[in-house]
Amino acid sequence: SSLFAAVEMAPRDPILGLNEQFNADPNPAKVNLGVGVYYDDSGKLPLLQCVAAAEKQMLEAPKARGYLPIDGIAAYDKAVQGLVFGADSEAVKAGRIATVQGLGGTGGLKIGADFLKKLNPKARVLISDPSWENHRALFENAGFEVGTYPYYDAARRGVNFDGMLAALKAAPAGTIVVLHACCHNPTGYDLTPAQWTEVIAAVKSAGLVPFLDMAYQGFGDGIAEDGAVIGQFMAAGLDFFVSTSFSKSFSLYGERVGALSVVCESRQEADRVLSQLKRVIRTNYSNPPTHGAQVVATVLTTPALRQLWEEELAGMRKRIKEMRTALVERLKAAGVTQDMGFITQQRGMFSYSGLSQAQMQRLRSEFGVYGVDSGRICVAALNSKNIDYVAGAIAKVI
Ligand code: PLP
Repeated sequence: SSLFAAVEMAPRDPILGLNEQFNADPNPAKVNLGVGVYYDDSGKLPLLQCVAAAEKQMLEAPKARGYLPIDGIAAYDKAVQGLVFGADSEAVKAGRIATVQGLGGTGGLKIGADFLKKLNPKARVLISDPSWENHRALFENAGFEVGTYPYYDAARRGVNFDGMLAALKAAPAGTIVVLHACCHNPTGYDLTPAQWTEVIAAVKSAGLVPFLDMAYQGFGDGIAEDGAVIGQFMAAGLDFFVSTSFSKSFSLYGERVGALSVVCESRQEADRVLSQLKRVIRTNYSNPPTHGAQVVATVLTTPALRQLWEEELAGMRKRIKEMRTALVERLKAAGVTQDMGFITQQRGMFSYSGLSQAQMQRLRSEFGVYGVDSGRICVAALNSKNIDYVAGAIAKVI
């Protein structure tokens, strides 16, 4: 029989499956809130002006496309460090952070996971319950056993902070803890700075390995505000991992622009860590692509473009917040009596709406409003034209 006769069909990606169902739905009023992307008020994926301007500059002085260094464009890695850690931070100046360009945030996570597996093959990984659906599979595919720490408290509509802290305190030394730096996906609930202080103390005293996933810097309260947690980890003197994604903040999803940074104790240590990260990259895809990272480096290092990016990012952040407020208002106007104000307390692109699987299914079948069965909706896919319809539909299923 054939070589592939025994190959089983892999499970469908639940969110991509939802997209297929959405595309096949003939309902003209249909709205896709299952996506993980930011759409502008006209329902389109934006091309940021800062990106178009950087690409124009690049086109005016076209360059041949040689191989990049294994760790990517040096100016890009430096710009990432400046953005994530602050160009004037002691760790950046001391050269004790190893940063490599990665294939989106996912690529950064995977490089870190493969490196960690070699460093400490027996470690367990803990992710939040719930978490971005790829965290578990990514770390499992890197060879780790993956468990969870409590995170979402459905009854209280917020973070089960006591549960989270207790789980961290009980974890054996060396456990890798994946933490959402801001704009938690899927719930939208973030920790307060005071709660981060407690998490950091717990991580430090238990000897855990923190891995911060920062996929939405600038989508919560601001670039500096969302990045403040990094400063808290640095101040605690911890060694830690940070994956960065520019997919959302630059609307460059398909370019696969991201990074991994590893904060070490000294420059010597960072040099050795960097050499190992490069080995992981070399044996996976050899070296990263040029275009997206060149765009991001150009924007971040050209003052006028940087300014423009910060304004455009603020515009996206503001629009998401307006949609949160508007959704709460429209739900009330549509007759929902329970307090939906929690939607405005959440941060980032997503909202855990609190709707049940049955309610989410009714939204799809009766109204063509597509969200994830968990109740997750993408607030960044709401706009002035679809919000009344969505609020009306939710009101009818509640
Ligand atoms: N981490 C989290 C929490 C995410 O939500 C996402 C994307 O949805 C990623 C990582 C992956 O980002 P990228 O598309 O840049 O690989």
